[in-house]
Amino acid sequence: MQHKTIIEPFRIKSVEPIEMSTEDQRLEYLKEAHNNLFLIESRKVIIDLLTDSGTSAMSANQWAGIMRGDESYAGARSWERMRDEIRDLTGYQYVIPTHQGRAGESILYTLLGGEGKVFISNTHFDTTRANIEFGGATAIDCLTDEGKQPALEHPFKGNMDIKQLEKEILNSGAENIGAIILTVTNNSGGGQPVSMQNAKEVRAICDKYNLLFVLDCCRIAENSYFIEQREEGYKGKDYREIAQEMFGLADGGVMSAKKDALVNMGGFIALKDKKIADACTNTLIIKEGFVTYGGLSGRDMEALAIGLQEVFDKDYLKYRITSTVYLGDRLHKMGIPVMRPIGGHAVYIDAKAMYPHIPVDEFPGQALACDLYVKGGIRACEIGSVMFGKKDTDGKLIPAAMELVRLAIPRRVYTQSHVDYVIETFEEILKEKDQAKGVKITYEPKFLRHFTAHFERLN
Ligand SMILES: *Cc1c(COP(=O)(O)O)cnc(C)c1O
Repeated sequence: MQHKTIIEPFRIKSVEPIEMSTEDQRLEYLKEAHNNLFLIESRKVIIDLLTDSGTSAMSANQWAGIMRGDESYAGARSWERMRDEIRDLTGYQYVIPTHQGRAGESILYTLLGGEGKVFISNTHFDTTRANIEFGGATAIDCLTDEGKQPALEHPFKGNMDIKQLEKEILNSGAENIGAIILTVTNNSGGGQPVSMQNAKEVRAICDKYNLLFVLDCCRIAENSYFIEQREEGYKGKDYREIAQEMFGLADGGVMSAKKDALVNMGGFIALKDKKIADACTNTLIIKEGFVTYGGLSGRDMEALAIGLQEVFDKDYLKYRITSTVYLGDRLHKMGIPVMRPIGGHAVYIDAKAMYPHIPVDEFPGQALACDLYVKGGIRACEIGSVMFGKKDTDGKLIPAAMELVRLAIPRRVYTQSHVDYVIETFEEILKEKDQAKGVKITYEPKFLRHFTAHFERLN
């Protein structure tokens, strides 16, 4: 028989207790944290949906790998295991271990970038953009129009706009392009997938202008699932083979292993080209560590190698994506405005549509994030004008393009009853949405204010 319920394809062997709290307690906690969820201790959170980065639960096999970790400085067995696994997956000969994704970005994009250089991506993730710009180069986003419309249903809203890409290349001059970066799935765009067809078209453009094609492959397993489900010719195909096909189109990849490698820390660069790899290795040794561990301990590398295999398991991926979609679709049906269709790792709520009576300079996203915490102890992340708002010369807010709240789903951590609890919390919030109040900023630092700003709830 075909069951309706897709169960978590694992049993729980080790548990981490959640401290329960009351609404009154949480009101107090939130006040102490100046209405900023980054300032709340995790023990005061019931369901933590702040990020899917580094928050995965490891498997029994990975924990066993932790014990097997070879901590030798040079040439550890765990390094061989990690390197061989990445070579097999990517088909790239040169593997460079780093302590997390941005360390790889810093090494590779500092080398390829610098003053006058240009990088073009479907959407540069914020650390990618920061590393490119820090080196003096320019980062340009080239997302398709479909990807920019939150409510539009489209199978591949993470795709690169190929016409625009070619225009930008001609505009900047091919000789000034550092690399073309395809982010799969497109994190900043809501975890939306990129099709194989689109990757082929990017390859063709890179061939035409002789450019380097790099995959930001943090969520390539989740992307492969979407390709199998949605792209013609891929039904029933093995997820790992789909990923291998996509790696085959590119010249290299940078990965934050904190996502689809199912570990809490780790990353790597993988490359076809020896010259670039050698240059990266020089920086690696200065900044991260020796070539056979980068910023990682032996046990980290062991767990990473195992995680990269486990993530392509068909039952895991089905559970992973359907549980994210389960949350998003329930909220959508209930009348909560969410970004459509639901992506791989997170559900994005359109707070401006949810709280239309709260003006953007009273931060509807922050208000909703606070309400979710008070009502359910749920920690989400504002992605709107608190995070991306700028100021004009009079100090008036130039708002972000959208006021979103992101519910990011840690891998293998929460069960369906946790998700149902989140849905129930939204039912309550929906009932009281017209009474929701905005917030005002009472303290803010100069940079990255969302991490440490203080807010006051308006009356
Ligand atoms: C998380 C992430 C990074 C950066 O990785 P860190 O491990 O957090 O340094 C880069 N690109 C994408 C798409 C990401 O999601």
